[in-house]
Amino acid sequence: MRSIVRWLTSALFLMSIAACVPATVTPSPVAFDLSEQEPAAAPAPSAAAPAPEPLRFLFPTPAPEPVSAWRPPLYPVPWALTPYDHFYFTRPTPANEVNWPLADYRYGGVFFRPDLAHTGIDIDAKLGAPVLAAGPGTVVWAGWGFYSGWAENENDPYGIAVAIRHDFGYQGKPLYTMYGHMSQVDVTVGQHVETGDVLGRVGITGHTTGPHLHFEVRLEHNSYFHTRNPELWIAPPQGWGVLAGRLTDAKNETLNGVSVSVTSYETGRIFWVKSYGQGSVNSDEYYNENLVLGDLPAGWYTIAIELDKKTYDTEIKILPGRVAYFTFKEGKGFTSIGLPKVKTDLQIPAP
Ligand SMILES: [Zn+2]
Repeated sequence: MRSIVRWLTSALFLMSIAACVPATVTPSPVAFDLSEQEPAAAPAPSAAAPAPEPLRFLFPTPAPEPVSAWRPPLYPVPWALTPYDHFYFTRPTPANEVNWPLADYRYGGVFFRPDLAHTGIDIDAKLGAPVLAAGPGTVVWAGWGFYSGWAENENDPYGIAVAIRHDFGYQGKPLYTMYGHMSQVDVTVGQHVETGDVLGRVGITGHTTGPHLHFEVRLEHNSYFHTRNPELWIAPPQGWGVLAGRLTDAKNETLNGVSVSVTSYETGRIFWVKSYGQGSVNSDEYYNENLVLGDLPAGWYTIAIELDKKTYDTEIKILPGRVAYFTFKEGKGFTSIGLPKVKTDLQIPAP
């Protein structure tokens, strides 16, 4: 077994694309709410068990998204053209580095276990690249142990991590961002940071196949169970937009892991995205989505879904700087194009 694990580990290191290796166990519902980090000198909480040995899996080499290494400058944050949007954050890596999610490691993606969806996005940053604060706030975690809540745990799957409680919230709830797998941290708990301040450096600490930044947005509680899709929170490049959708079966249950192709009328370029897998992923309060594809140049696209040996397709226009939305129901096909009706229990702040 050991030699197999060693072989798999080395095979993973040969892969060109780095990504998270999720924890081997799903955390219990009493997982730590890391709103505040214990001071470094404090004894480890007795309830915190050491994280299990990382278990490595072999998975197919993902095809890199054929993209140019250039995107327009981002919209200034906060950016919200509709009352429902909340592009409150800038990107956590500099504009002269890759600052968009790896196509195969989006929020809700499933790589290793069918019930363990990815709770953030992975950005394929170079080792040592600066990690930047996505918005202003106070550092509430800096160092090892973010996942386990045990500050000295060097087996923590997030590795060296930083979390920020932002100066603003959403609908009266606090907002957090977190940055994982870092090689070094340049901030301390309690420190106030501004947007773009350097938090530390990209690394390979924790469960990862290579250098990259794991980035999460968390709403209400700084916990594993309260993440949201960062692509609905980071400002798009200027002139580009975001596609969100909700895919359900005939009983209105969400469809997990369904592949969707999104093809540009103008360029013919095809983007692939999957609906969220099962696990600790959450939908936006307004969109109630289970699929997001960010960084789409504005224009007309064909969305196509192959399900039960049938192909369904429809047209959708991606508008600059905002979210385009669709719903899809198994057996019926695309059931709506356009923003969802406002739910009565949702309090939309005045624009
Ligand atoms: Zn990740």
